[in-house]
Amino acid sequence: MSDTRLVFVTGGVVSSLGKGITAASIALLLKQRGYSVSIQKLDPYLNVDPGTMSPYQHGEVYVTDDGAETDLDLGHYERFAGITCNRSSNFTAGRIYSNVIAAERRGDYLGKTVQVIPHITDEIKRAIAEGHREGVHIAIVEVGGTAGDIESLPFLEAIRQLATEVGRARAVFVHLTLIPYLRASGELKTKPSQQSAGVLREIGIIPDILVCRTEKPLEEEHFEKLALFCSLPRKAVVEERDVTGSIYEVPVELAHQRLDELLLERLGLPVGRLDMTAWNAMIERAVHPKRGKVQIAVVGKYMAMRDAYKSVFEALRHAAAGEDLELSIAGVEAEDLTSPGGREALAKADGVLVPGGFGYRGIEGKIEAVRFARENSVPFLGICLGMHCAVIETARNIAGLENAQSTEFDQKTPHPVISLLQEQEEVMDKGGTMRLGSWPCVLSEGSRALACYGVEEIAERHRHRYELNNGYREILREAGLAITGISPDGNLVEMVERPDHPWFVACQFHPEFKSRPLSPHPLFRGFIRAAFERSL
Ligand code: GLN
Repeated sequence: MSDTRLVFVTGGVVSSLGKGITAASIALLLKQRGYSVSIQKLDPYLNVDPGTMSPYQHGEVYVTDDGAETDLDLGHYERFAGITCNRSSNFTAGRIYSNVIAAERRGDYLGKTVQVIPHITDEIKRAIAEGHREGVHIAIVEVGGTAGDIESLPFLEAIRQLATEVGRARAVFVHLTLIPYLRASGELKTKPSQQSAGVLREIGIIPDILVCRTEKPLEEEHFEKLALFCSLPRKAVVEERDVTGSIYEVPVELAHQRLDELLLERLGLPVGRLDMTAWNAMIERAVHPKRGKVQIAVVGKYMAMRDAYKSVFEALRHAAAGEDLELSIAGVEAEDLTSPGGREALAKADGVLVPGGFGYRGIEGKIEAVRFARENSVPFLGICLGMHCAVIETARNIAGLENAQSTEFDQKTPHPVISLLQEQEEVMDKGGTMRLGSWPCVLSEGSRALACYGVEEIAERHRHRYELNNGYREILREAGLAITGISPDGNLVEMVERPDHPWFVACQFHPEFKSRPLSPHPLFRGFIRAAFERSL
């Protein structure tokens, strides 16, 4: 990391403060000031990666091109800063510990006692070096969790050591905290933030910049108090107020507060000019759309946990902003659709989206949602499990294959139209063993997919174990389901469509991971366009 500057982002007071969005915003601002930037997330939990965690625990699992199952903050990094992350962009304590334990078993420590300091901390420092390209101007490292958590300690110790090693002039600590507003007394409170900075001081980290999340504007007295108690110059206390329109306004707000200038000055780098022209135009379309409205129903089983479908929702927002349309997303619980009257939730939608998922719960409702979209000519986009549901629906309701099912849900089904990928047959471990990451797909002439993408060969990110059973291709084709995307070897069906429907497209991959606010994903864009046409 020869001349690279380091920016460490930590969090205090409470979790879910939007640390990922803040770190991603910093990355965008520094990039738009002309610097090369890389960004990485360190997570203090003991799972080796979040791939085995329930969406209720952790929200979405974000998949990188190189097939890592990672923290959803990497989605913010890619979307805000246009950075392509990889498996070194996210390390958990579980992965750090398993590397150290594997080294111990190999005998690499030559008889030494293996300890948190220096062995775990050295491995964390090695992971940080691995996570950033040699020669990058600025490396941002976000530490998950909250200062004061037991699990975070080795990570904080490692970044403290690293800052000392590279020299304090080349490293900056940004601490994100919350300034709670007490409604009863009508006051903003700075004490939790003072104490949180104190927790960091105890372990030898003095934050250089305090970023304060707040729902109300801070008064001068708050800035002064925080500066005094946290040993900071007044201008190093920065307000990050809640934004109302779009999360993509956060970097713009932080630039108003001069956070980027402060960082560059602190790192001894020229401030340069900030170019946010395209970004601001995108926000204008997202916040004040001019062409009209679309309503999309997303039918899933974790609707109470919106983070479970983070990238899907963001991709819909990018596409709507790209089309200058106002978007409203109705989250529909799949299980509600099997009860009478459940369809009412769908009736208002201009488009129906069934996203990815695992396990049987909600499946019958999702199949009902597909049937509704097909029968009523409502634009439909099915993603991964959503494609499986589309295939099952055609098999059961058009091809007359009674009880057709995916073998994920019924191993004894008479018609296994979706079955385990052959490469998965011997796989026993659950973690990191799905078909993951970017794989190529060839689109057929005359398909809607090709009309959207405009190129014949595409590459998209995957996360699945099951696929369309090739033994049923012909029957499904006869039932009106065209196969419009396949792997280059012809073996794996990647996309299906219904040519007899205004817009019915489903894919085995996850297009949502590659959508960006400034370049909405072509399939989402096609879907939103079709939904808008239907709404007219
Ligand atoms: N559960 C399905 C499979 O493993 C779909 C996965 C998904 O939607 N990501 O193939």
